[in-house]
Amino acid sequence: MDGRPVAFITGASRGIGRGIALALAREGFDIVGNATAYDPEQRDRGLAEVKARVEELGAAFAPAPGDVADLAGHERLLDAALARFGRVDVLVNNAGVAPAVRRDLLETTAESYDRVLAINTRGPFFLSQRFARYFVERVAAAPGFVPAILFISSISAYVSSPNRAEYCLSKAALSHAAQIFADRLAVHGIRVFDVQPGLIDTEMSAAAKEKYDQLIRDGIVPQRRWGTPEDVGRVVAALARGDFGYSTGQVVTVGGGMQIPRL
Ligand code: NAP
Repeated sequence: MDGRPVAFITGASRGIGRGIALALAREGFDIVGNATAYDPEQRDRGLAEVKARVEELGAAFAPAPGDVADLAGHERLLDAALARFGRVDVLVNNAGVAPAVRRDLLETTAESYDRVLAINTRGPFFLSQRFARYFVERVAAAPGFVPAILFISSISAYVSSPNRAEYCLSKAALSHAAQIFADRLAVHGIRVFDVQPGLIDTEMSAAAKEKYDQLIRDGIVPQRRWGTPEDVGRVVAALARGDFGYSTGQVVTVGGGMQIPRL
């Protein structure tokens, strides 16, 4: 295909999504950045700030505001990307939330469960379904087009945190969704990866920063440091640009070795 590849990134207004947007822009991708809101006047934060940084790197950036949990809005998100760039090559399902309040498993509420699952699992599942249909059509029409879908799940897909059970469940389901999409889409040449960050220094993890600082000092992370959005961005860039062409359904941990069972 002619022209620059395009990546659609959900939750691109800060944190890991921002790191992914900058890494993919450096890699030669144009970016469609989603978050719940876009205010072009707020140049110092949110999608407008990321847009300015991406453009400094010589890539184009189109904001695509919308709630990933709102399935009725998914068509509009894809349409906005195609209207601006005429193609999308990579979908990165990054948007996600923690429970608004961390509650013990015995106190988990149905409201929090539904909210977290709607944003972290149901939304990306159906957004990926919509993009996958588009990718299947494009692959048939344009041989040589090699799209990918990436899910940013978490080590919480298998690590238990009894004070945010709904988050762990949402990530376990998302991780399995990556396997199923990989299985179904492999025949079309569409690669799917599950990226599992560990402890990454962002607004989301700030809620438990002191606890995690102490755990890192105590050695819970073999590499003995917080991860950064750049760490995740570099891994996503390597997966998106096609270096892993004969791999799909692969889980890649970005957690300083946290996945190693240790005594
Ligand atoms: P963050 O700093 O809180 O950023 C979350 C991003 O998601 C923001 O851009 C936010 O944008 C967006 N977002 C939230 N709800 C949304 C919705 N309904 N629709 C569209 N966008 C939405 O979190 P982060 O740490 O970068 O996390 C990014 C992803 O990595 C999440 O899926 C998270 O579960 C996962 N993760 C994080 C860590 C960690 O240690 N930080 C570890 C493992 C996995 P707005 O609020 O502006 O809409």
